[in-house]
Amino acid sequence: MNGTVYKSTGSWYTVKSNEGNFYECRIKGKFRTQGIKSTNPVAVGDHVSFELETIGDETIGIISKIGDRKNYIVRKSVKLSKQTHIIASNLDQVFLLVTLNNPPTFTSFIDRFLVTADAYEIPVVLLFNKMDVYQEEERFEVDYLMDLYTKIGYKCIKIEAKQGKNVDLVKEIMKGKTSMFAGHSGVGKSTLVNALEPGMQLKTAEISEQHMQGQHTTTFAEMYDLSFDARIIDTPGIKGFGIVDMDKHEIGDYFPEFFALKSECKFNNCLHLDEPKCAVKKALENNEIAASRYRSYVQMLTGEEDNPYRER
Ligand code: GDP
Ligand code: ZN
Repeated sequence: MNGTVYKSTGSWYTVKSNEGNFYECRIKGKFRTQGIKSTNPVAVGDHVSFELETIGDETIGIISKIGDRKNYIVRKSVKLSKQTHIIASNLDQVFLLVTLNNPPTFTSFIDRFLVTADAYEIPVVLLFNKMDVYQEEERFEVDYLMDLYTKIGYKCIKIEAKQGKNVDLVKEIMKGKTSMFAGHSGVGKSTLVNALEPGMQLKTAEISEQHMQGQHTTTFAEMYDLSFDARIIDTPGIKGFGIVDMDKHEIGDYFPEFFALKSECKFNNCLHLDEPKCAVKKALENNEIAASRYRSYVQMLTGEEDNPYRER
């Protein structure tokens, strides 16, 4: 039988078969996970093959095969000598909720998130929430940011999760797909999920990214079916994707508007810093590239970590 992993406790996996039935499954023996060494061989979102086995009056599934993952997100445990834990796989998209205040979401955070998601090959949709509380100046800023990110190629939507405004637009994008919600604590993720599916509760326990990196986490992701042919993966405490190990020459490629100009730089390994005849620097001077984007890029390049407390 084939199915998808909806929940994992580390030793048991809840799998929904393609026919729509749930089975408690285990794995037999050692599993080699393609491409990556992780503490968990099977993750929420994995497509698996399993066989039913009846022992006494109990029927369980034995997972025999894991399908190729189109993407996955990981968490690294510093304590356990940087062991990697796969949080979830096969995501179709992630919604990043952004608010200008209460809490503030800085462009450095957005840009880092976009780069990481892109590296993970997960499409991002930006949701500008709490539009109802903004004064004219802030509405102007949201328009500016929407314009900026739309031009680079990201879908942007203004919403009011609390009032349910434009939630139908989010629903539309979610149909037939597996989604995740991310963003700082307090941006409205739980409120939005509740507006999408009344009665639904997210695991709200928020853990700061810094805290999360320092502990061996026992919190597991879980997938849920929503009533409108959509699935969400709920992971406690995920506000961003953490840091992906990236070569410094790679980072610029994850800024689409830089990447588009790369071939026009004099040096093909141009880092767009102080090199002569750099097309990116030129575009920046001509205001064709946003200063905030360039700042985020330099920040990532120089490894200057965002302080999560300053970020908020
Ligand atoms: P989470 O931490 O991301 O899950 O955020 P919550 O969903 O818990 O929301 C944090 C606070 O923001 C709550 O008090 C919500 O009522 C409020 N909130 C969420 N969406 C909106 C909105 O669109 N407008 C306003 N005014 N408040 C909102
Ligand atoms: Zn350059």
